[in-house]
Amino acid sequence: MSGATSALEVRGLVVRYQGHPAVDGLDLDLAPGRVLALLGPNGAGKTTTVEVCEGLRSRDEGRVAVLGVDPAGAPDTLRSRVGVMPQGGGAYPGVRVREMVGLVAACAADPLDPDWLVETLGLASCARKPYKRLSVGQQQRLALACAVVGRPELVFLDEPTASLDPQGRRLVWELVRALRADGVAVLLTTHLMQEAEELADHIVIVDHGRVVAQGSPESLTAAGADRELRFRAAPGMDLRLLASALPEGCTVSEPTSGSYLVEGAIDPQVLSTVTSWCARQGVLADDLRVARRSLEDVFLELTGRELRS
Ligand code: ATP
Repeated sequence: MSGATSALEVRGLVVRYQGHPAVDGLDLDLAPGRVLALLGPNGAGKTTTVEVCEGLRSRDEGRVAVLGVDPAGAPDTLRSRVGVMPQGGGAYPGVRVREMVGLVAACAADPLDPDWLVETLGLASCARKPYKRLSVGQQQRLALACAVVGRPELVFLDEPTASLDPQGRRLVWELVRALRADGVAVLLTTHLMQEAEELADHIVIVDHGRVVAQGSPESLTAAGADRELRFRAAPGMDLRLLASALPEGCTVSEPTSGSYLVEGAIDPQVLSTVTSWCARQGVLADDLRVARRSLEDVFLELTGRELRS
């Protein structure tokens, strides 16, 4: 290890394509042994940001330090210390899975055991298959194996589970957790809320190349602190009496037919008001639940867009 206290530091990053900013003043921080998730809708600037950090793309403004080194100036000194799993991947069509992982391992001073990695990523059954015969999900896991086999200090994973089934996704998550426990810093981009919530210590939500919110998964979903109360009942109920009985700051609506939503500072008193009102109406509220906002809700609220699933 280098002893660097920061694995990645980005300040005021600006990247323009034909004069138009794809990344517009972005700041990021990632410490060793932590996982940072970049979340954003299509075109938000995630891949561009990651490629600048990988030293694959030039920037127009800002400062980037990868393990204390500017990736634009010294990619050779960084190559053995950084793992890269690009979107799309790619390899020589005839190369076999185990062979490929072994080749990359042979370039590293202290690699992970390629057989362990192939097994861990669920690739043992196709270890002798050539690249061109692999499914997209197998290709993706092979790309991940190649990114980490050299025992890097920092790994960039651009949508690491985009083409995987739930089982493949779990295997990748397990590996990311193992890397983290080993002190590796991981920057990943993802469209999957669950992935960000499961893996990330810190989530940065980007839109139009800018940070629109950031924090731990817990702090992001608690932001605003309000909870919501939902229930299902007959459509079209007159909500005026309920609305007037709720404390100031609480609202009630019927966003979709037969599905009711109370928003605001939901406390036991509000819950009791709602259930009493239902009782007076002779209504049995189905699926009554009090919940925090999900990361999906936060994202939608901030960007006005849903994530690609
Ligand atoms: P996705 O989730 O779809 O991969 P992203 O958040 O990774 O999106 P980028 O690929 O970084 O976003 O793209 C950011 C913006 O820059 C988009 O508007 C995109 O069309 C544009 N862009 C990306 N690469 C180029 C390029 N080589 N030339 C011109 N414009 C580009």
